[in-house]
Parts: sequence; structure tokens; C-alpha cells
Amino acid sequence: MQCGVTHFYQTFYLLFRKSRKKPSRFIEAILFWLTYVYISSEMKQTMYDVIIAGGGPAGLNAAMILGRSRRKVIVFDTGQPRNRWAKSMNGFLSSDGADPREFIEKGRQELLKYGVEIIDKKVDTVTYSKGKFVVNDDEGKVYNSKKFILATGLKDNLPEVEGLEELYGKSIHHCPYCDGWESRDKAIAVYGQNRRGIGQALAMKNWSEDVTLFTDGTDKLTIKDKELLKLNEVKYETAAIARLEGEDGMLQRIVLKNGEVREQQAMFFSLGTKQQSDLGEQLGCDFTSKGVIKTRRLQQSNLPGLFVVGDAARDMQMVIVAAAEGAKAGVAINMELQQEDRVKPPQLSHKA
Ligand SMILES: Cc1cc2nc3c(=O)[nH]c(=O)nc-3n(C[C@H](O)[C@H](O)[C@H](O)COP(=O)(O)OP(=O)(O)OC[C@H]3O[C@@H](n4cnc5c(N)ncnc54)[C@H](O)[C@@H]3O)c2cc1C
Repeated sequence: MQCGVTHFYQTFYLLFRKSRKKPSRFIEAILFWLTYVYISSEMKQTMYDVIIAGGGPAGLNAAMILGRSRRKVIVFDTGQPRNRWAKSMNGFLSSDGADPREFIEKGRQELLKYGVEIIDKKVDTVTYSKGKFVVNDDEGKVYNSKKFILATGLKDNLPEVEGLEELYGKSIHHCPYCDGWESRDKAIAVYGQNRRGIGQALAMKNWSEDVTLFTDGTDKLTIKDKELLKLNEVKYETAAIARLEGEDGMLQRIVLKNGEVREQQAMFFSLGTKQQSDLGEQLGCDFTSKGVIKTRRLQQSNLPGLFVVGDAARDMQMVIVAAAEGAKAGVAINMELQQEDRVKPPQLSHKA
């Protein structure tokens, strides 16, 4: 906003300067003064207590605790939460089965009364120097803060199979704790090339007796693997998949490239994830071999003042865990700020 106003005055001022019809000295002086006032106010940028990148459950819950602690907080969000494909959000006490979009919207509304600013923009770059984070949004506007929370989440690697997009989040899932119950007693397919799906196929027996592992054109299962699957009554299919077919988001069959058809009602996969933003790399965070950011007990990272919460950080990837991590970081940050803000008595001299 400030930026826009300054540009307006600058342009206005320059146009006047260029036009043949000169303004009076008085108008010229006022315009010059206004331009000066706005430029200097821009230079004295607001120092936020905390800037949060990511407005999913982790970032919003951190903002909630910090807002309630009367901190000056700003949340940036690009509106792409990881579960945006899902029709329901399960396993969150009191909100079990909620619409994920409504859940986020309700959270955003709740933050308004605590004065938390929410900006629907991307954090493009962030740097840290001498106790200060400098954030650039994707329109080049600059913001400063004492602490920074990275809550930008993960994105899933999806199987490259025709027909997946229409079914993903409705009858095709990656997390049995989120969607296993809804798939109970169904004919469950587990997707995993080579030997990748064995563990998940065995685990899905918890939710259904009818489980088939699809290795999609790869035949790397060892004799021991096949014996293990057989002993646990898990079927396996090595033929390549041509496409998935279903209706209203519900999987009905898997068509194989050899022309055969398998009747299936749900599918699970686990193909790993990627960070949704490169902010962790920009800040020099420590990553695990699985690509999530290492944190300590209260979500502290390897950089002072930087906290990482939710899926982006190492821990279980569920909405309730993400929200809890946001709360932990909120409390930890507020306690750090209390220490930093506190007026301390002057050091007593030992000689006195
Ligand atoms: C299909 C599916 C179904 C799921 N179902 C469930 C379920 O039923 N129950 C459950 O507990 N969990 C479920 N999950 C997991 C759940 O989605 C995640 O655990 C949870 O969303 C993590 O929250 P988060 O706040 O860490 O990240 P996210 O919810 O992913 O939010 C991150 C936010 O950061 C924003 N962002 C990213 N980069 C930037 C940037 N540079 N600047 C500003 N903003 C940025 C994104 O747009 C996004 O809004 C599901 C996941 C998937 C994929």
C-alpha cells in the first residue's frame, strides 16, 4: 500500500515537473513534502515480532498463540494446503470429517480478533542477519521481523497413472490414519513400484482383508517378499497399469496394459514428498535424508529465531500434529521475546 502511494506521488510530482503548465511553487512544495514523508516512512519499515510463511493449520495455530500473546504477527499464505484435494479432514478431535477448506477459513476468521494480519501472497525470499529477518513478498515489498516461522508444508509425489487426478483425495490416499477408516473392508489397492509398496500393503490389512499390491510393470519382488505377502494374505499384481477408472471421485477399477481389469474401491500409495517452498534452503536449514527440516523440542531450527512447524518439520504429518507444533513454537517464541524485551537491572559492580 505504502509503496503504491509513494509511486503515485512520485509519478504525479514528475508529471508536474515535466508539463509545460508549471504548478505554483506552493503546490510543488506540498507535493515534494508528501513524497518525502512517504519515502521516509517506507524506509522506517514496521518491525513485526513474528512473520509466518504458510497459513495452513501449523502457521495459523502459531499465529493464534502469538496473537493471543499480543504479538505483532503477519501470516503470508498462497492458499495451497497439502490436503486441498481431500473431501474431508479426519482424525482431528471435534472437527473429525470437516471440510478442509472450511476448517482453514474458520481458523482465519478466529485470528481476526487478535489483530493478526493475513496476506494472501507468497514469501519469495527471506534472509537473516544480526537478529533480524528480512522478507520479500512476490511483489517485491519488504517486511522485517524479530522471529520467523516456516510453515510452508510439503507436496506429495504422486503416481504417474492416468485417471488419478479425479480420484485423488476421495478414494486414492497416502495416509491410512487419515483415510483408512473410510476405506475399511473395501477392495484396497496399494501402489508401489519395485519393492516400495510392501510395507504399506501389509499395513493396510489393518483396515481390510482384501488388499492387493500393484507394482505397475516392475517385477522386483523377491521370493521372500512374495512368501511374506502370501503368508499375510496380500495379493500382488506386477502388470503395468493403463489407467484408473471411477465415478464421482470413487475408484471402481484398475485397467492393466495387458487388457485385464481389477475391481478396486480404494488405493493407497507412499512415494515420498518435497518441500512446498525453498525457504528452508534459503535460510540454510538442516534437512533429514527424507527432505524435512530438523527441529528441536519446541520447533527451534539450527538458526536463532527461526522455528519450523507442521509437515515441513520432522514429525508425524497430520493436521492435529501440525497445529500442535504451531502452538509449541508460538509459546517458545513468546517466551524468547519476553526475555529479550525485559528491562534488566544494571550490572552491580563487584567492588561496591
Ligand atoms: C490428500 C490428503 C489428505 C489428507 N487428509 C488428512 C486428514 O484427513 N487428516 C489429517 O490429519 N491430515 C491429513 N492430511 C495431511 C495434512 O494435509 C497435513 O498434515 C497438514 O496440511 C499440514 O499442515 P501444514 O500447516 O504444515 O501445511 P499445509 O496445510 O500444507 O499448509 C502450508 C501452507 O503454506 C502455503 N505456502 C507454501 N509456500 C509458501 C510461501 N512461499 N509463502 C507463503 N505461503 C506459502 C501453502 O499455500 C499452504 O497454504 C492429508 C494430506 C493429503 C495430501
